[in-house]
Parts: sequence; C-alpha cells; structure tokens
Amino acid sequence: MSALAPSSCESLLQSMVAIDSVNGNISGRNDAERAIAEHLDAVGSDMGLETTRLPVEGTDTFNLLVTHRVGDAAPWLLFESHMDTVSVEGMSIDPFGGRIEGGRMFGRGACDTKASGATMLCALADYARQDARQDARQDARPNNVALVFTTDEEIGKGGIKAFVDDHLPGLGWRPFGAVVGEPTMMKPVIAHNGIRRWPIRTRGVAAHSCAPSLGRSAISMMVKVIDAIESHYISSLTTDHPLTGKAQCSINIIEGGAQINIIPEHCEIRIDRRIVPGEDSAAVPGAVEEVLDRLRLAHPEIQVEQGEPYIVDAPLDPAAGADFTATVQDVLNEMGRDSVPEGAQYGTDASQLAEIRVPAVVIGPGDIAQAHTHDEWIEVEQLGIAAEFYGRLMRCEA
Ligand SMILES: [Zn+2]
Repeated sequence: MSALAPSSCESLLQSMVAIDSVNGNISGRNDAERAIAEHLDAVGSDMGLETTRLPVEGTDTFNLLVTHRVGDAAPWLLFESHMDTVSVEGMSIDPFGGRIEGGRMFGRGACDTKASGATMLCALADYARQDARQDARQDARPNNVALVFTTDEEIGKGGIKAFVDDHLPGLGWRPFGAVVGEPTMMKPVIAHNGIRRWPIRTRGVAAHSCAPSLGRSAISMMVKVIDAIESHYISSLTTDHPLTGKAQCSINIIEGGAQINIIPEHCEIRIDRRIVPGEDSAAVPGAVEEVLDRLRLAHPEIQVEQGEPYIVDAPLDPAAGADFTATVQDVLNEMGRDSVPEGAQYGTDASQLAEIRVPAVVIGPGDIAQAHTHDEWIEVEQLGIAAEFYGRLMRCEA
C-alpha cells in the first residue's frame, strides 16, 4: 500500500481539534457537534468519498456516514469514531490549538477520539485512491468500507444508538465487523463492562417533628432498604470475567427530607451497577425487586419502588466476535505489533454494535491515560501506525 503522508493526517487532526465539539449534553447546545460533522462532510467529499448525513432525532446535528464501494457483492466493513469531546473547562493548554511539541499534539479530543476519526478517514481516502489507480488489482480491495462519525458518545451514546436503531436498518447492508476508535495504544480491546444506573425511592408520611409518631420517615425506610440491598443483593454478585473483572454495584448518592422539623416524606438513593460480559442488564431490576419483596414482607409499612434507569449501557462481550478478532490480530501480527486482546474498564460505542451481533473490536491511537485530562495530547507517531493498521484491515478478506 502507499504510505499516507503523515502531514496530511496530522493536519486533518489539527483541523478537527480546532473545532469545538464539546458534547451537547455538557454545553447545553443542541447543535454542539454540527460544525465538526459539516467539516468532516466537506473533507470526505473533497477526498472523493461518498458522504451521507444521518440526522439524529432530538438534536440539530447528524451522524456522518462516509463510504467507499468497490462492488455490490462485496462485504461491508464498518469503522466508527465519535465526534464529541468532554468539557474544556480547567484545561491548562489551548483546547483548540492543536499545537505540536516534542512529538505530541495537544488539544481537547486530540486523543479521545479525533485521532481515531482522522486516521480512519485518511486510511479510507487512501483505499479509495488505490481503487481509482489503473494498476490496482481488484483482489487488493475486497471490502466496501463505511466510516461513521457519531455524536454524543461521552454522555448519552445517542449517536450510536440512532445509527444502530434508525440508520443502519435502512442502509441495505450489514457489516461483518466493526472497528471502534478509542485510545487503546493500538491494542485490541475486545471486552468491557456495561453500566446500569437507576434510583430507588421510599415514600413516607410527613408530620411535624414535635409529634413524629404521626408520620412515617422515608429516611428510616431507606436505611432498611440500603441494608437489604447491600447484604442480600450486592454481596450475592459473583460473576467474574477474565478480561474485565468482577460484577460491581454500589449505592453512591442519597437524598431525602425537606426541612429540619418535618418527618421526611421522600428519600432517594442512586445505584451504579457494572455489568460484566455474559450478564444480562435487563435481569438486574428483577433481582433487586426480589430483595425488596422480601423486605416488604418483613416490614409491610415500607413503601419502596425502583425508578426508571438513567442509563443502560450493554457490556462488550467478546464471545460474539471471535473470527473478526482473529482478523484484527492477524493484521497486528503482520505489523509486528502486540495483538494480545485486552479488556477495558471504560465503556464505548462498541457495545451497541455487539448488541445487534455485529462483531466489534475497539482499537485506536493514543493512550486512555491522556483522555479527558487538563493537557490532553497524543503522540504524533501513533497517527501513522493507526492509519497503516486501518488501511491494512480494509484490505483484509472477511
Ligand atoms: Zn472516546
């Protein structure tokens, strides 16, 4: 394959870092990621690639699909990278500067995860250029390749959910594998935990604190609820995964009561549950409800109910994608790179793809240790490695 000019990948990344794309749920702007999506649309079109805007309902922005087709019968390979970043508040560098110094490029999103997006787009442009060259052999380009830039990964996963639920079913193809770009130092991450967060509320009866017996304290009820959940639910979690560790659950917020002289009518706790691959997130409420039912039986005065989850994010289960993982490892081995699959503690868009049985591997340039930091940076050297890896993978047979 022809080598990508490193400067072009670098300058593409700089142009992406220069555009503020702080997640709309953080900035409060409904069109927070529109400017970068429009920029990537223009760049992709300039590169001779087909671009499609896929509107994300409830926002004034869109997922951007960039494709190169080699033939109707060819299988599809999908690449994915999110366009949003976390906040720039408290940063000690110019968040949009893209300054390069000492082999590092600095800026919000430089590492997480605009570098993935920039190098995927560079690799795709190179793949398409090869297709146009006269001496290109058909067998060197076995795949139709799609790259989707998604919105809202950092908070709600709204972009990938819209892609999976609303966009992909109408595209007329289904990928045999998906590569999700996140900073993994170009190591294959094939498993991570999912998350379920939800509230539990108790309801008492308010009364003046000079006559507490006239009321029923929602806080006193909650004390029993917490004890029951900790001793009968959390302590019962034993599922373990070799790559992502043990299933976890913790009660991390409590709020209750209204005034110092009123017996509290309301109390609420919020629970964080980490779902390991192989566990079913949908089974969590039922298991907790069983514990609450036993508590209600023992203490009929307790009024307690679980609320709707704030977030449900499936784990990335490697079981579904062994063949695709092997393909990714082959490419890494060809390049003389570490191909031992890893698990991650953080969540990614990959789990949404794995949920619909598209085998997904998370792999991208940069180190997660520099993501979300006050001086976010990426080693420029990582860009060339990533572009080469993505390009080689595009040329692999399904
Ligand atoms: Zn990310």
